[in-house]
Amino acid sequence: MAQGIPDEVIMNTSLIKELADVAKDMALQQGILMRIQETPNSSELVTYAPFTLFPTPVPKAVFLQALAVQTHYNTLVDKISQDPDFLEEALASTIAVDDFTARLFRIHQQILTEGRSQSIVLGVNRSDYMLDQTDNGSSSLKQIEINTFAASFGGLTSRTPDVHRQILKMAGRLEESQRILDNNPAAGLARAVAKAWELYGSERAIVMFLVEESQRNIFDQRCIEYELWKRNIPTKRKRFDDVCETGSLDQDKRLFVDGQEVAVVYFRNGYMPQNYPSEKTWEARLMMERSLAVKCPDISTHLAGTKKVQQVLAKPGVLEKFFPDKPQVVEQIRATFTGLYTLDIGPEGDKTVAMALAAPDQFVLKPQREGGGNNIYGSEICQVLQGVKESTERTAYILMDKIHPAPVQNYLLRRDAPLQISNCLSELGAFGVYVRQGKDTVMNDCVGHLLRTKSSEHSDGGVAAGVAVLDNPLLF
Ligand code: ADP
Ligand code: MG
Repeated sequence: MAQGIPDEVIMNTSLIKELADVAKDMALQQGILMRIQETPNSSELVTYAPFTLFPTPVPKAVFLQALAVQTHYNTLVDKISQDPDFLEEALASTIAVDDFTARLFRIHQQILTEGRSQSIVLGVNRSDYMLDQTDNGSSSLKQIEINTFAASFGGLTSRTPDVHRQILKMAGRLEESQRILDNNPAAGLARAVAKAWELYGSERAIVMFLVEESQRNIFDQRCIEYELWKRNIPTKRKRFDDVCETGSLDQDKRLFVDGQEVAVVYFRNGYMPQNYPSEKTWEARLMMERSLAVKCPDISTHLAGTKKVQQVLAKPGVLEKFFPDKPQVVEQIRATFTGLYTLDIGPEGDKTVAMALAAPDQFVLKPQREGGGNNIYGSEICQVLQGVKESTERTAYILMDKIHPAPVQNYLLRRDAPLQISNCLSELGAFGVYVRQGKDTVMNDCVGHLLRTKSSEHSDGGVAAGVAVLDNPLLF
C-alpha cells in the first residue's frame, strides 16, 4: 500500500468500525442513495449506494491521460455514428446471429432510408478503463469499453468526495484528504442536455427521461433532473409503456407524450433485450428515433457503442480512416486499446479460437450485451467456444485480452454485507459530452470521472449489477 492508506489504518479493526459507521451516515446525509431491492419502486425505504471506505490510489499521469483522450473518443463515436457504411460492415457478422443488435440495426436503417429528421446530436459517453500492470511496475491505461447509452453514476459519484475526505481526516490522513478531487459529471451532463434543449428551441417542450419500470438507481438520475430544473428546463420521467400508450408524432414529426412536446429524449433504459418485452416497446423506440426530438443517444450512436465496433476499431488502419490528418489523435486513442480479436468466420477468427482455447485465463469473451454479468471468463470460455467454434454463432462474440490491474486492499460498504477487508480491483471511467448541430460542433467536453471498485473474486463488474461499488481516485 505504498501510495495509499497505510496498514496501521487498514488493519485497525476498531478504527475501521468507527469509520465505516461515519461513512454510512454521511453517505445517507449526502444523498448517495439507492432504493432497496425489496421495494425498488418506492423511496419510503432507501439505503446508501455501495461505496469503498477508502479512496484508491491512481497514478496522476494515467488519470489525466483518461480525461485528455475523452474528447477524442467523443469525436470518434460521433464520426462512427455518421458513417453508415462503416457501421454496416462492422456489424454485418454480428447482426447475422444476434437478434437484439439486428433489431437495433433495422431501426438505424429505417431512419437512414427515411432521412434523419433532427440535425441536433447530443452524446453522453463514459469510457471505462482498467490500469494494466506492466513489467516495470508502472501501469498503463487500457479501455474496457465505451458506453454510449445510459452511462450512469455521474450523479451519485459527485457526492462521494466529501465522504472520503471526512474518512481520511478521521484516520489522521489530512494530506491525503486534500488530494481527493471534486467531481460533478451530472452537472456537465446537464449542461449538454440543456444546450440541446435550447437548440431545439421550444420553451414548453420537455426533457423526457426514458426510465425503467424498476428504478433502484433513481437518485442518480434525479441529480441530472435537478440540474436541469435549476436552468428552468422542465423534465419528466416516462416509461416505454407511457410512450406506447400516449406517444405520437405530429405532421412535422414533433414527439408528444402525454400531451407534452418532447425536445430531448434522454435514454436511461433500452440497452438490454429484456427492456423490450413486447412489439409495442420496439414500436415506441422506433417512434422516438423517427421523431424531431433530440435523442441521447440516437440509434446510430447507440450502435457505435457496441463491443463489435470496439473490436473493429482496433484493426490496423481503421482509426486512421476516421482521423486521416490527425496522427496524434490516432496515437492517443490507440494507446488505450488492449488486444481485441474477431471471431468472424475465416482464418483470422480460427486463429482467435485457437488462441483462446490454448490460454483462456488470458482473455475475456464478450457477447454484444451491456449492463454487466454477460462476459465469459476462464474455463467457461473453452466450454462456450467448443460449442460454437464451428458455426456462425461464434460471431456473436468478440475476444479481448484480460487486463490485470494491481489489487489494493479496501473495505466495500454495502447494506447487509459484513465489514471485511477485500482485495480490490478498480475501473476508472471518464465522462464525455458533446452537442453537434449539423456540421457544427457546439460542445465537446470531458465532464468528470467515475472510479468503481470490486472485490477481485469477481471477474465481472457493475455497480447496478451489485458487484462494484463507488470509489474516488487518490492521485499520486
Ligand atoms: P458491460 O457492458 O456489461 O458493462 P464490460 O465490457 O464493461 O461490459 O465488462 C463488464 C466488467 O467485466 C467490467 O466492468 C470489468 O470489471 C470486467 N472486464 C471487462 N473486460 C475486461 C478485460 N478485458 N479485462 C479484465 N476485466 C474485464
Ligand atoms: Mg461496463
